[in-house]
Amino acid sequence: MSKFDQIQEIIKKLPVAFGVEEVALEDAYNRILRENVVADMDMPPFHKSAMDGYACRLEDIENSLEVLEVIQAGSFPKIIPGKNQCVKIMTGAAVPNGCDCVFKVEDSEEVDSKHVKCTNPKTAKNICYQGEDYQKNEVLIEEGTIINTPQMAVLAGAGYSRVKVTKQPLISVIATGSELVEPARTPKPGQIRNSNTSQLVSQLRQMNLRVVDKLMLADDFELLTATFLKALINSDFVIFTGGASVGDFDFIPEILKEQEFKFYWDNTGIKPGNPMTFSEKKGKYVIGLSGNPVSSLAQFEMIAKPAIYQLMGANYSPLRILGAMAFDFTRKKADRIAVIPVIIDSEGLISEIPFHGSAHINALVSANALLEVPLNINTIKKGDNAHVRPL
Ligand code: AMP
Ligand code: MG
Repeated sequence: MSKFDQIQEIIKKLPVAFGVEEVALEDAYNRILRENVVADMDMPPFHKSAMDGYACRLEDIENSLEVLEVIQAGSFPKIIPGKNQCVKIMTGAAVPNGCDCVFKVEDSEEVDSKHVKCTNPKTAKNICYQGEDYQKNEVLIEEGTIINTPQMAVLAGAGYSRVKVTKQPLISVIATGSELVEPARTPKPGQIRNSNTSQLVSQLRQMNLRVVDKLMLADDFELLTATFLKALINSDFVIFTGGASVGDFDFIPEILKEQEFKFYWDNTGIKPGNPMTFSEKKGKYVIGLSGNPVSSLAQFEMIAKPAIYQLMGANYSPLRILGAMAFDFTRKKADRIAVIPVIIDSEGLISEIPFHGSAHINALVSANALLEVPLNINTIKKGDNAHVRPL
């Protein structure tokens, strides 16, 4: 099993670490559901007309029919039509007992002021039957679902004006590197702008997570330790970028060891982005991402995101699409899973874009997916199938 697959197994076993809170339905979008949503009634709750037309008995479809009343959506029929009788009915209105067919207005002709006739005796029945969408007590949405637009509609339809969701974890982001300056500054020789914080904050925001504290620190062991410990007090997660590797000033793993954090992994088996730590102490989690922007992006997308979702009790499985290669891919070493920025088009064709490696974040501006190159695979030929993950 690849290191990356081992990590996915570890992630699946992480506990649900965050509690539950109740929010108003309007605030539930993109939160994680922490209760099963159960139907309190059948849907539709009554036999409902699918058309504007006339409700009658199918056996009378070829006859002239007496029109007894008009039933509007929202009202309930009072009269039960008998032989050669019908009611005029609107879309969404309840079909009267005894009627097993609705023929459309377009399929009707007036016989006189009180009678109509169906001009299409082969009409469909045009009835949505009670309980055909779901039945009372059915589980409509399972606990752990990430609430998207359809779930919002189903929650509303099932009467969930308040919804149990996972409490929002408190997250601090610390960008480390003595070379970093804020985006508003012009870097002096040897310096670069901090792009990882903006990148990471947006990845978290896409998960509907907010960052409580954003810090940028030089590679100074004492300063990093002190600031980290302070940030930890008000955080459930601390996410570092930079200093994750084995360079002279890569202090993050060392600090975590000194603070007796338990390591779940310290490398990922993906390229770019091998050095990454995931550690925990007393229910607080620390994620140490690489400094290189593409590495950090890939580590978050492929590993940190599923791990955070797991800890939040979400059933998350990233979308992967099987496409066809529009170019030949080759690499010398195949000892890690590679992720390569690519473009996948509407036909599923995967095209190459210029990419120089882990620092080349600009390449991702035109990419819309990451190509996954499996372990021990050196070449993927033009026309072969391969998996991509949409970005
Ligand atoms: P590190 O992981 O600290 O060894 O950093 C690897 C590379 O990523 C170096 O070239 C850093 O300058 C760059 N880097 C580190 N942190 C950031 C950041 N916050 N924004 C942009 N580049 C970074
Ligand atoms: Mg560094």
